[in-house]
Amino acid sequence: MTNEKNNLELLKHSTAHILAGAVLEMFPEAKFGIGPAIENGFYYDFQLPRTLIPEDLPLLEEKMREIIKANHPFEKAEISIKEALEHFEKVNQPLKVELISDLQKAGNETVTIYKSGNLVDLCAGPHIESTGKINFKAFALTKISGAYWKGDEKNQQLQRIYGVVFEDKEGLKNYLHLVEEAAKRDHRKLGKELDLFCFSDLVGPGLPLFTPNGTIIKDELQKHIEKVCRGYGFQKVSTPHLAKIDLYEKSGHAQKFGAELFQVTSHYKQNYVLKPVQCPHQTQIFASKPRSYRDLPIRYMESEKQYRDEKPGEIGGLQRVIAITVEDGHSFCTVDQVKQEVKNMVEIIQNFYTSLGLWENHWISLSVRDYAHPEKYIGDAADWDECEKILQDVSAEMGLGAIKHEGEAALYGPKLDFMFRDALGKEIQIPTVQLDFATPKRFELEYTNNEGGKSSPVMVHRAILGSYERFIALLIEHFAGAFPLWLSPVQVAVLPISEKFAQYAAEVKSKLLVADIRVEMNDKAESLGKRISETEKQKTPYIIVVGEKEVADKTVAVRTHGVKEQQTLPLDEFIEKIMKEIINKK
Ligand SMILES: [Zn+2]
Ligand SMILES: [Zn+2]
Repeated sequence: MTNEKNNLELLKHSTAHILAGAVLEMFPEAKFGIGPAIENGFYYDFQLPRTLIPEDLPLLEEKMREIIKANHPFEKAEISIKEALEHFEKVNQPLKVELISDLQKAGNETVTIYKSGNLVDLCAGPHIESTGKINFKAFALTKISGAYWKGDEKNQQLQRIYGVVFEDKEGLKNYLHLVEEAAKRDHRKLGKELDLFCFSDLVGPGLPLFTPNGTIIKDELQKHIEKVCRGYGFQKVSTPHLAKIDLYEKSGHAQKFGAELFQVTSHYKQNYVLKPVQCPHQTQIFASKPRSYRDLPIRYMESEKQYRDEKPGEIGGLQRVIAITVEDGHSFCTVDQVKQEVKNMVEIIQNFYTSLGLWENHWISLSVRDYAHPEKYIGDAADWDECEKILQDVSAEMGLGAIKHEGEAALYGPKLDFMFRDALGKEIQIPTVQLDFATPKRFELEYTNNEGGKSSPVMVHRAILGSYERFIALLIEHFAGAFPLWLSPVQVAVLPISEKFAQYAAEVKSKLLVADIRVEMNDKAESLGKRISETEKQKTPYIIVVGEKEVADKTVAVRTHGVKEQQTLPLDEFIEKIMKEIINKK
């Protein structure tokens, strides 16, 4: 596995050199930046005499195939910095000269250069033996973009070419298939087609508006989570969207978020910020009256907006928004109760993700301090030791197999982070359970302990679906828009074969409505075939068709989304069947 991985890294990086060689043939005056291997392939940055167009990519690929077929060896040489500077100045490669000067400043005396075909490049290596080791059917150039030299906006902009390479052509084929599938599932595209959310120039970028269909999904998720959490003693609370900055100065978030905080000015000399997180508000509900050890654990949950002043980023999508609806919850408990609280939260997460078919592909990180840099965290070392031990014990007792990751803890405590893979194999990190001794102390939260003295509670933070916006984007892509029945905005579509059967269709519809099933009638003056294909595009889980036979027998002809065969059932039986499926979150 490691060998294969190393081999792939070599292939990626070596192919970047071959790309540079091809660019040099096409543009002899090209200036070269850097060309590293990246997660899905490689890129190379160039300064070119003209802007690249997509049509350039196949031409470059053709030149790359020639370089591969010529089977040039990668010849390594170690030369002095002085020689290297002379060479790259002579061939007029100012970016390489700059890189060599940087190496010189860092104390290097020599550099390595590699020659392959017409290209001599500054590089630490290693590479494959010769260009012919690359399968010429297993690489592709995928994208052109702009990139600042050294990633700094103050520097000149270069042109970046991205590519991918695999060991064999099957690898490339699978990759291209995934890319195509991802494009089909893109939540921005499906969000529009299924009418789930929209944006308005007047409202502003990064501020999605959920339509009736999208709101149903959001509400169903919320109802589901709240129901599960109520079973574990969580009570719903609701807090304002803003607060005095003092709240976040006390919590430490003001320093942490800095310029990401939205400042709100008021005419009454009172300045507010839009809340960047939910936790501090909830501490004040705990603090609103005296608490006894007998009241603990006290568990709060809410689904409210929070705000981060971020660059709008990916326009038109739900992945990055500035008004984020977050499902958040906290348990205030005694030290002795922490372990059970964490276990409950792990169970909640397990149930929720199992119901969405995401649990099978998960792994868990035990995210602890960076032991070398304790100054990055708030709270006492002794509390940290205890918290980390509790999480370790939970992992062992529940058989979670959490893998320890140093330096991944939150500001105020260690945590368990849950990772999943969606249908396309993309890693998702959302749920988390975090221990926090520090925040209750900062807010001087206390309860009367069983000896009549005062103790500070522990705060356990938990996120299950995190932000509704990001989660809905994920679900759209995971299910390719074909949501499970309980989440579908429309669960059943009723299609009378013709106008003659409209009355029975209306009767069917009202029976479904009475059973609290989300139903839509499609009796437009169009052919049945056209109406069926229209409804299928909306990915409605059940389409029922009614005609003469169904009216006579009091039945419905049922088409299940993604299933070819049609099934005829008595109406009552159909209703009973799907009510069961909705309850069981099938
Ligand atoms: Zn190299
Ligand atoms: Zn929290």
